[in-house]
Amino acid sequence: MTTTSTQVASPPELRAEVLAALQARARPSLYVTPACTPANAGCLLVVDSDGPYAHGRVVGLAIPAPAPGTGWRLGCTRCHDPIGEDDSPRGVCTACTADRAGQ
Ligand SMILES: [Zn+2]
Repeated sequence: MTTTSTQVASPPELRAEVLAALQARARPSLYVTPACTPANAGCLLVVDSDGPYAHGRVVGLAIPAPAPGTGWRLGCTRCHDPIGEDDSPRGVCTACTADRAGQ
């Protein structure tokens, strides 16, 4: 048996685990995918693929808890600060949104 680092779609069990930990509103359009930027290594991007966005709407970053097996939390895709699904419509915290708007 060999293991590869090939990125594949996250298995359904992982998706279920992550979405349950994040207490996301359950809906079939939500999926998780490995975050591909180095700063987000080990994290999963949570995407809502339903709607007018070709590649889905980013809900946020699923960040593994520091202690193994203690779950996941939803964080800002830019700074990893905790965010809420409803107050961060693009998966970016208020501070980062303001930061981006001010430049
Ligand atoms: Zn942020």
